[in-house]
Parts: sequence; structure tokens; C-alpha cells
Amino acid sequence: MDYSQFFRTALDRLHDERRYRVFADLERIAGRFPHAVWHSPKGARDVVIWCSNDYLGMGQHPKVVGAMVETATRAGTGAGGTRNIAGTNHPLILLEQELADLHGKEAALVFTSGYVSNQTGIATLAKLIPNCLILSDALNHNSMIEGIRQSGCERLVFRHNDVAHLEELLRAAGSDRPKLIVCESLYSMDGDVAPLAKICDLAERYGAMTYVDEVHAVGMYGPRGGGIAERDGVMGRIDVLEGTLAKAFGCLGGYIAASHQVIDAVRSYAPGFIFTTALPPAVCAPASAAIRHLKTSQWERQKHQDRAARVKAILGAAGLPVMPSDTHIVPVFVGDPERCKRACDLLLEDHGIYIQPINYPTVPKGAERLRITPSPYHDDRLIDQLAEALVQVWQKLDLPLRAKPIAAE
Ligand SMILES: *Cc1c(COP(=O)(O)O)cnc(C)c1O
Repeated sequence: MDYSQFFRTALDRLHDERRYRVFADLERIAGRFPHAVWHSPKGARDVVIWCSNDYLGMGQHPKVVGAMVETATRAGTGAGGTRNIAGTNHPLILLEQELADLHGKEAALVFTSGYVSNQTGIATLAKLIPNCLILSDALNHNSMIEGIRQSGCERLVFRHNDVAHLEELLRAAGSDRPKLIVCESLYSMDGDVAPLAKICDLAERYGAMTYVDEVHAVGMYGPRGGGIAERDGVMGRIDVLEGTLAKAFGCLGGYIAASHQVIDAVRSYAPGFIFTTALPPAVCAPASAAIRHLKTSQWERQKHQDRAARVKAILGAAGLPVMPSDTHIVPVFVGDPERCKRACDLLLEDHGIYIQPINYPTVPKGAERLRITPSPYHDDRLIDQLAEALVQVWQKLDLPLRAKPIAAE
């Protein structure tokens, strides 16, 4: 049997559909973000990163780097086991306290990634609720979909951010049936925000439990970085908040925050928590440092919003098809996988600008785009260079530019 042929066929399929993925070999330089070194086929080159989810540059913050180095020096590198065996270290307990406080919840539980926290968290919660009906937003992240699937519960999908549709489904389910609403607060491909207050109204009216993924909002929204729920004043009305330590907090790991009972149940039943090694102290301590810093510092959040607004204005004024977004995400529409990939190749090779193409299945076919994520450290000069490079690439690939540039917002 020629087993390799199966894999060759699978890879050929991706090539045919123009969605075979190539990763750039990059080397970040602490203190110089968003500048990095690209190990290109022709040798090392300086590039500017425009698509990092280290949204606030916390991955290079001296307090965060310092906490990692200091903790590794003091406590060593590994965790030493699963939480049940030997992996519960003091910095992990402190991190969970920091997170519970961030979200105004009784407790929090840390996982090895945001992906795992959704997958095992949702699956475990829903399994523990008899006859649970899950109501899931149509654009939920794969980690949530996998969690829902693993729960084995019945699932209904409501149209993206459509509370009228959600209400219809809730009403039809009846008041006796246990229901879990699962959604994100900020959707990272379009940069739009869920109507959390309205979702909470419905949850209360129809007796549903709520689970909200704040991965793309924690650290960045709300006066203490508690996310969109904090900004909108609804943290206390959401049962389970989920987040990551790997995006705005610049480290690694994921978590849920909720009541003592919910956390204790997930801790006791979730296979993705029980059977895997804990986060090491030297990852927990810098995450705590980043969270603590962002609870009081407004500079990163304000500068982040300011930079995102400027990127939208400058690219829009240059005639580029910036897709409207309410947040720090700046999507630029391409609408074709081949040219999306080509645009990114040209940006990197000709302009030293690194942006990954966003193609199917991350977004629907025909909605291919560049997803630009400005940080507090992208200055005016870098933004101007980005706009000029994009216009040149757009012209080279015959992509449409707006004839009459829209006024800068
Ligand atoms: C990135 C992401 C996750 C996973 O978080 P990681 O910590 O990277 O595993 C979960 N949900 C959403 C919406 C994400 O974009």
C-alpha cells in the first residue's frame, strides 16, 4: 500500500484550491517590535510585522520579559506534570487570582491554550447540563465548534450577531430546556462586536446560560482590560468568560473565569485540563505581569486605538478597500485567494512588509482579505509606508482602487 499517496493527494487538493499555506520564517527582536528579521530564501532581511496578535506589544514589555527570565531562573523551566500530579505551582495560583479579579468572577481556571479552554471548557460544561441545547453564533471560532461537537449536545446556529434570530430559537426551545448561548465578543476577521447586553437580556428572559469568548478583547477594551463585557458593563451578567494569555497579554495559555462551582466542575471533569501538563511558572508569571500592568496602564489601549484609526484613515484615503470595522482590526478586501496570496508575497518580497493572507476556510470563499493589526508601536512613517506599498501592489495585481478616495475619518 502506498500510504504517501494519500497525503500527496490531500496536499495537491490544497494547492489546486490555492489554499496551501506557507509560513514566513521570522525572528522577533525584543525592543524593536514591529520590526523583525525574515529568514528569506535569499538570506536574512529586515521586515515590519503588520499581522501580529501580540496586539499591544506586551510580548516585549520589560516587565513581562523580566518576569519570565526571573521566574525561570528561580523556578526552572517545566511545570513538572499535570495539575493533578505535580503541576500546580504558586505562580499559576496567582495567575488565576489575577484573572478572576480581572473579570470580577469568583474563580478562574488556566489551560495550556485558549483553544483548549474553549474545546474542553464548552464540552465539559455542556455535558454536565442534562439535555443541554447549545445556541452558537454562526461565526464562532473553530475551538468553540469543536467543543460543542465534543459535548454531543444538540446545537442550533443563530445568524451572526442576530439577536432576533437568537430569540426565535430560544423561544422555540421552551423555558424548561437548559440552554447555553456560546458566542465571541469581538470577531477577529471582520473586527465587529457582539451585542452582549442584548444577548444577556435574552439569556435572562429565556433562562439560558452564557459563555463568551473574549480572546480578541481582553487587555484591549474596558478600563482595566477586562474586555468588551467590561466596557459594556455586562461582565457580571455573563456566566463564563473565556480568554487567552497569548494575544494582547503576549504570553501563552488560555482560561475561563466564572463562579466557584463552574470552575470546580470544569477542573474536576475536563479531560483537556486533567490529562495535560500545566503551564510552567515562567509562563504564568509574565502573563500575570502583563495583566497587572494593563489593569492600570491606559497608554497601550489608547495608543492602540489611535494607531488603528490612523491606519483606517490613511489606507481609506489612498483608495484601498478597507472593510468597515468598529475595532482595532483593519481588514482590506481582496476577494480572490490567488491574488490575496500574491499580494502578501509582493508585500514581503518587494516592500519588507509581513501580512499573512486570510483565505478560506478562515473566511468564506470570495471574502479573502488582508487582515492588518496595528499596534501602539506602528508609527506614522510605518503607516505611510504601508499605504504606499499596498497601492503599488494593488496596481501591480490590477486590484480595484477607489477612483475617488473616501475622506479620512
Ligand atoms: C486565537 C483564538 C482562540 C485560541 O486561543 P489560543 O490561546 O491562541 O489557543 C480562541 N478563540 C478565538 C476567537 C481565537 O481567535
